[in-house]
Amino acid sequence: MLRIGLTGGIGSGKSTVAGLFAARGVPVIDADDIARRLAAPGQPAYREIVAQFGPAILDPERRIDRKLLRRRVFEQPAERLRLEAILHPQVRRAMEDEIAGLDTPYCILVIPLLFETAERFPVDRVLVVDADEARQIERAGRRDGADAEEIIRILAAQLPRAERLRRAHDVVRNDAGLAELETEVECLHRFYLQLAHHSG
Ligand code: ATP
Repeated sequence: MLRIGLTGGIGSGKSTVAGLFAARGVPVIDADDIARRLAAPGQPAYREIVAQFGPAILDPERRIDRKLLRRRVFEQPAERLRLEAILHPQVRRAMEDEIAGLDTPYCILVIPLLFETAERFPVDRVLVVDADEARQIERAGRRDGADAEEIIRILAAQLPRAERLRRAHDVVRNDAGLAELETEVECLHRFYLQLAHHSG
């Protein structure tokens, strides 16, 4: 099973690109979705996060306030390491379990912080979704209502764009419309099928 790690900065279009692979029958496993599931009330990571960050991190429904948590960990690197120590081992295990159950030539693993985390999840190739910063700010803001200032802070904490591109095996440029994106994904899909065929 060829593992393609899909990453990119905030608002670059990772979920959109992953959706285009999924539409081609490719299994997509999203590390953020898994983390969200593991941090839902009643799950082990929930208790550990609340114990670590205190009840102030909960929203009125006693769910973990992800926006607040995100702000705290981006402002305080030590807090970020504590959160990663709780979540990452559990996310990794859950991802490996899901991969073990697959039977397709390749899969897409959406890992937004693939380069930023200390212990990198093992993938065969890295696919970077790339957009210029103005587009990232506009798209991320439109999607979850974060203000530009906060997105700029997150951008500054993430790996610089040039460095991310340098580490990529493959790049999807997401600076145009959805039709262009679709063409790029179709091309990569064929390439990955071929690679999987030759390596398998
Ligand atoms: P995040 O890092 O914040 O989770 P992401 O990288 O997964 O974001 P998406 O959620 O895929 O990014 O895209 C952000 C927003 O921009 C979405 O509302 C999406 O529909 C829109 N978008 C993405 N690509 C395009 C495009 N090529 N044309 C128009 N809108 C786009």
